[in-house]
Amino acid sequence: MFAELKERLNLAQVLGRYGSLEENTTTLAMRCPFHNNDHKPSLHWWENDKHFYCFGCKAHGDVIDFVAKMERVSIKDAATMLARENGLDMSTYSNGYRRAMSQFNSDEDIELGTVSRESALARAILARSEPNLHPYLARKGFPKLKARVYKDSVCVPIYCNRILVSMQLIAPDGTKKFLKNCKTSRGSWTLGDLDAPGRIYVEGYATALSVWKACLILKRPMGIVVSFSASNLRKIAMWGEDRYIVADNDEAGLSAVENTHLPWWAPSTPGWDANDYALAASHHELAECLLKML
Ligand SMILES: [Zn+2]
Repeated sequence: MFAELKERLNLAQVLGRYGSLEENTTTLAMRCPFHNNDHKPSLHWWENDKHFYCFGCKAHGDVIDFVAKMERVSIKDAATMLARENGLDMSTYSNGYRRAMSQFNSDEDIELGTVSRESALARAILARSEPNLHPYLARKGFPKLKARVYKDSVCVPIYCNRILVSMQLIAPDGTKKFLKNCKTSRGSWTLGDLDAPGRIYVEGYATALSVWKACLILKRPMGIVVSFSASNLRKIAMWGEDRYIVADNDEAGLSAVENTHLPWWAPSTPGWDANDYALAASHHELAECLLKML
């Protein structure tokens, strides 16, 4: 069913966002995203049939399986996504394809993502949210900052490959919730200077705001990537140049930076994140700390 789509996909183009490819005589190799610490690229691609095999963890499949696994979506959703993103004409595909494709009805839908009922919910909430002040932000040291607020919660959209997949909702008392049944793995939200090549990975929203403010003080344009958890931070901080981690000083946070070989900083006080540090000291002092890392 997916043979034609597979044939028409450009492997390098599809895989580009998942890591860099090394060209060998018969294969394209990349660091395997399915097992940890794959420093020498052990996942190989055979271009003729767009099939992969990892010599480390034995993961294997075709390009659609790969994308489905990376994005934690069904094979069908992965195929739909690939077809759409690569501008492939679906008219020659089966009815099942066309039905799946009809979920997308405008370019905006692709941006915001309507691949599942859950992400449609995230999209609806985002559309209904409005920029507003919020008690959580005030407590975190940003009384004048307007965030997207829906009902009484701050909305932090979660994107995966530019597709909206979920939402974190932060209540006035700081309680954080994700939309039910939505994937958050490999999802993130980036604030700051999205065009800057540099990325600082952090766990939480308030931490990100403080790191962003510190970067403004340093006049250092950076994208600040919210990963929502320490384990997810490890997953999304895997690729790209000019990467840094600002970790929380707790067990999960500190273990997330282990073996990443990335420059990182964490406040020295156990239990603190960068926002706690900035509130106790100042954003200027946080900026000084980050300057040593950057
Ligand atoms: Zn592997």
